[in-house]
Amino acid sequence: MDLLPLRFEDVGRAYGRTWALRGIDLEVRRGTVVGLWGPNGAGKTTMLRIAAGLEVPSHGCCTWAGDPRRLVDPRARGGLGWMAHGTHLYPWLSAEENLALLVRLRRSLGLASADPRAALERVGLEKRATEPVRTFSRGMAQRLSFARVLVGRPQLVLLDEPMTALDASGRRLVTAAIHGLVEEGAAVLLSSHDPEVHASLADRVVCLEQGRVRARVDRAPEASFAARLSDALGTAEAPVRGLG
Ligand code: ATP
Repeated sequence: MDLLPLRFEDVGRAYGRTWALRGIDLEVRRGTVVGLWGPNGAGKTTMLRIAAGLEVPSHGCCTWAGDPRRLVDPRARGGLGWMAHGTHLYPWLSAEENLALLVRLRRSLGLASADPRAALERVGLEKRATEPVRTFSRGMAQRLSFARVLVGRPQLVLLDEPMTALDASGRRLVTAAIHGLVEEGAAVLLSSHDPEVHASLADRVVCLEQGRVRARVDRAPEASFAARLSDALGTAEAPVRGLG
């Protein structure tokens, strides 16, 4: 089932009388990464939750492949990779049992999965595969949470601060894995407070302020991307480099 592109059309979200988002137009296409940047409360998580079908826009429309109903279709949702603040892991199960459970759940819905062993290797957890998650550090749990995304072979990947708690090696592995998903054709929408994450991954960075788009910075042309990103993100004194 084709889920792409993800599209926001004049999307607004109000909580009571306060608008958390207003007038958002955005398309995330196959094989591209869009980064969301903005201060606390700018609306990044709200955008991701709307894209995941967990929030309903108060105005405008959010669609997968042009159809708003796909956001709530259980079979379509099998093509969604979602990673938010919680790790969605069972602490008493091992890393491999957590992934095996996901594979069984997906199979029961007729959905294919990627090899859990390979996913654990891609996040550098293969040596901890049989240990219960309750013994994991925060960063290890974050790595496993990302391995869950990989097992789902997602077309559409929504990541809220994916590098939280990761050390340098974890950041490199997750960055490489996101590049891998994109090469396979996935569309990625991610939020981060870290300019280097955007510099390493994003084809386009959308800067939010008080729920509105303040600026958009496209990677192309690559030559001046770092400088334009630094300007837009207000990091001109420490130029944006990206993860090695
Ligand atoms: P952060 O960088 O802190 O994660 P963010 O950019 O992700 O912030 P959001 O979590 O999307 O910001 O919040 C945007 C605005 O919407 C904030 O003003 C927040 O208080 C408000 N908001 C979010 N969820 C709710 C809710 N369930 N009820 C009321 N207000 C909410």
